[in-house]
Amino acid sequence: AADVSVEEILHKTILVGDSGVGKTSLLVQFDTGTFHPSSFAATVGIGFTNKVLVVDGAKVKLQIWDTAGQERFRSVTHAYYRDAHALFLLYDVTNRKSFDNTRAWLAEINEYAHRDVIIMLLGNKCDSEDRVVNREDGERLGREYKVNFMETSAKTGLNVDVAFTEVARALRDKR
Ligand code: GDP
Ligand code: MG
Repeated sequence: AADVSVEEILHKTILVGDSGVGKTSLLVQFDTGTFHPSSFAATVGIGFTNKVLVVDGAKVKLQIWDTAGQERFRSVTHAYYRDAHALFLLYDVTNRKSFDNTRAWLAEINEYAHRDVIIMLLGNKCDSEDRVVNREDGERLGREYKVNFMETSAKTGLNVDVAFTEVARALRDKR
């Protein structure tokens, strides 16, 4: 571990998706390994968090931005996307509207983000028994838009580290 090289670049990574899909909870789970059902942070967002991941022995630095109140469609604009290297687009598997809205988010991403931005589509709250969006729906959408897809639970932590590690690996491979 002593000779793991530290990358100087801080990869700006942003979390987008409708309000309530679990963006803040996902970042808190990734950062601290905890879930707080109705915390203040989950309501207002937590700004950004810097994290260093080790991918195949190399350190990858992520600066992960949460969105707080900018989720209303079209209010997250160019400035926010402009310098993002990667983004997570979340929907809530218990909320069909949040899934349907991912197409509008993808259109916006296509318009405002870098052409080569790394995108990970996440169906969050997969722990819930109130699911209305099947895994296959997410997989199909991912294939259609040629973006990676996973289901996650910010509550149990399922696939949370995996998703961030996948993105960190893609960022590392791109350089
Ligand atoms: P945001 O608006 O996208 O930041 O969403 P929040 O993180 O504030 O989460 C919205 C609500 O969904 C809160 O009540 C969370 O506790 C809940 N929530 C978030 N992620 C999960 C999850 O993976 N599973 C379940 N069951 N609830 C979740
Ligand atoms: Mg939030």
